[in-house]
Amino acid sequence: MNTQKLAEVIAAIAKTIEENKEFLTQLDNEIGDGDHGINLARGFAAVEQKLPTWANTDIGTLLKGVGMQLVSTVGGASGPLYGTAFMKAGMACKGMTELDGPAFAAAMEAAVEGIKMRGKATEGEKTMLDALCPALRAVKAAVESGKSLKEALQDGAAAAEQGVAYTKTIIATKGRASYLGERSLGYQDPGATSSWYMLRTMAEHID
Ligand code: ADP
Ligand code: MG
Ligand code: MG
Repeated sequence: MNTQKLAEVIAAIAKTIEENKEFLTQLDNEIGDGDHGINLARGFAAVEQKLPTWANTDIGTLLKGVGMQLVSTVGGASGPLYGTAFMKAGMACKGMTELDGPAFAAAMEAAVEGIKMRGKATEGEKTMLDALCPALRAVKAAVESGKSLKEALQDGAAAAEQGVAYTKTIIATKGRASYLGERSLGYQDPGATSSWYMLRTMAEHID
């Protein structure tokens, strides 16, 4: 995948977020403050507007630009977290003009580590990490077994979907939903859901 293709994939993510913004916001209404979809849609619309300015750069510059744009436009908890994720992925892809399976796995690992550090959270706390950590493991396993980037992302998206279902079964201990304690049980985490949507969109749009 080259920089141009990655820009197309990011535009597709922006479209997915826009199409699902009401549902994401509804999920956040149940266990948070009802702005997750609105926040992300605003951020990705700003990213989409800026995509042409990164068209002739490299993958690292593109991802870093996306991250910085998300940090300054999404807000809330998820803005700095997704922003950090894309910026860390960008740093891992510095100067690259092609992204293959191993490079993607390394970039995703840097992104997930960035989210963990920034949010001081770990798996099992009912956050986006419950989609992203199993997805990362699935992507790494797929790449190690010689699967293509698309297949690795398909495996990652499937693992993220299961992670979203898992968030229904646990109590939130990070983020706004943690204020609800046991009452957060039974609800799926909005951030885990948006992470799953992003991976699924990537899997669909990569050749
Ligand atoms: P806010 O809660 O500030 O309104 P959003 O609604 O945009 O922010 O995002 C909420 C999502 O952010 C949650 O569903 C959860 O997945 C994620 N989140 C919150 N805190 C953390 C954290 N410390 N680490 C990882 N993810 C987190
Ligand atoms: Mg919110
Ligand atoms: Mg908020």
